[in-house]
Parts: sequence; C-alpha cells; structure tokens
Amino acid sequence: ANQIQRQIWTSENFQATMPKRRRNAHKGNHGRGLVIGGNPEMPGSIAMTANAALRTGAGLITVATANNVIPTVASHCQEATYLALGDTEGFLNGQTAIPFDQFDAVAIGMGIGRHEGAGKLIKEAVASQCSLIVDADGLYHLKRLLESLTERSGPVVLTPHPGEMAMLLDMSVPELLQSPFAYTKMFAKKYQVYVILKGMFTIITTPEGSQTVSTVGNQGLAKGGSGDVLSGITLAMIMQPQTISDALCNACFVHGKAAELLTEETHSVYDLMASDVIEGINGVYRTFL
Ligand code: AMP
Ligand code: MG
Repeated sequence: ANQIQRQIWTSENFQATMPKRRRNAHKGNHGRGLVIGGNPEMPGSIAMTANAALRTGAGLITVATANNVIPTVASHCQEATYLALGDTEGFLNGQTAIPFDQFDAVAIGMGIGRHEGAGKLIKEAVASQCSLIVDADGLYHLKRLLESLTERSGPVVLTPHPGEMAMLLDMSVPELLQSPFAYTKMFAKKYQVYVILKGMFTIITTPEGSQTVSTVGNQGLAKGGSGDVLSGITLAMIMQPQTISDALCNACFVHGKAAELLTEETHSVYDLMASDVIEGINGVYRTFL
C-alpha cells in the first residue's frame, strides 16, 4: 500500500527526449559553458570535465583555473578556451572577476580544493544568475551558502556522491542510505535545487520533489575522475533545448551507458578509466540516436 512508483530512465526515454541537432546549427545554439575548478594537485579533473562536455555536444567550453594549471589542461583539451584566474596565490585569494553573464551554464568545484579562495569563487557563482552545477569540493563550500540558493533565478544542480550528500545533510552515510529518496527529496524541496545523488543506482530529484532513477553504469566507474566526467556531460546537457530534469536523466544515461558499452566491447571493469568513458560517449550516441 505504501509502494511508490518511481520512473527508471530507459533508452526509450533517452531517444524520445534528446533534442535533434539542426542542420543549420552554429556553435552558439549549443551552449556556452564555463568550467571552474582545478588546482595544481588536481589538474586532470577539469580537463576531463571540459572534454566530457565537448564530447557530449556543448557548443563552446571555457575553462577557468589558476594560471599554472592552464598548460596542463590545455595539453589535454584543444577545443576549449581559457580564463586565467591569476597565479595560484591570486586564485587562492579568489580575486578574479568572472564574466558569468557571458555563459549559459557553469560547472564549478571539480578539483578546486577546500581553500578559502575557492569558497569565494563558489560564492560569486551562486550570486550570478547562470544555470549552475556544483560538484566535489564545490559542495563543501556551498554548504555555508545553502540558504541563499532560493534567491537565485537560474537553476542549481548538485551532483553529490553519498559522502557529499551526507555532509550537506549533516548526517552519516549509513543514515542517508537508509532513506536516500526521502532525505534527498526533503533537501531538494527545501533549497529548491536539482540533486543527482550518485552511486550504483543514481537518484535524480527535482526542486518539486519528483524522482527518477538511473540504473545504467557499472563498477568500472568506481574510480577517481568518474564524477568529473559526469559533471561535464551534465553541463553540456543542461545547455541543450530540453527540460532540466530530462537533461539530468540523459546525462546519467550517457555516462552509465558509455561505461557499459565500453566494458562489453573494448575494455573491462578492471581497466576502464574515466578518460575512456569520455571516448565512449560516441558509442552511446551511435547506438541509441
Ligand atoms: P565520484 O564519486 O564523484 O567520482 O562519482 C562516481 C561516478 O561513478 C558516479 O556517477 C557514480 O554513479 C558512478 N559509479 C561509481 N561506482 C559505480 C558502480 N559501482 N556502479 C555504477 N556506477 C558507479
Ligand atoms: Mg566526485
């Protein structure tokens, strides 16, 4: 009697909701996205986010990071443009003004670290009206800013794994995992945010409290960098003409299915790396669209 029916996002849902790309399209039609994050200890994170966004179909991607991180990222991503946030010290001080209004959507937090300057960047991003994806240590900084989220006009998407979600909710991971649907719904409604609670199964929750489950993917994704790739896919998806809810479900579908196809064909769950998943995105598009 208490049973709640929750939709599981299928390949049919993916096919039905993915927007077509028009023959006369130009890059401006497919979104100008900004990726903010990285630091000298984690330069690969935002390289993977940027590449994943480009492979997913973003029109233009700009990477904003510390000056000394740019060469590393640029050597892995030729298609992006770069916004230098100053030397590591300037970046640490969060002293750079970012032209948020030039972008359709922003993904912030991957590899950004917990230093104070990063916190200032998160605060600036929240103060903008851009569509916002907050991941990784961005969520750590966002915790102090949760009350201000309901004042924004642009949508906010949080992409926590259970450890990050439990941190946001001030509870332990076992406690969260006793009722992940209920706790996440309560949180999403309270702060008017979309939440992608990642895991073996991923729960996508809207600010209205509707919930969809993504069951694709496998243990090959249980490696550092997988989340950074999902952030990039999600950034590209929310800039395409579809509802945010469909965009988030489709992002999880592309990420998980890419891993599944790769481990059936050319890789295994042992050797699959996050950067392989980026190269596997094309398989999902070619198979299902
Ligand atoms: P993160 O912990 O931020 O790196 O994110 C990990 C990503 O990989 C999320 O999208 C998870 O849903 C996915 N993932 C990790 N482990 C598994 C698993 N065992 N089965 C399916 N997906 C997984
Ligand atoms: Mg992560």
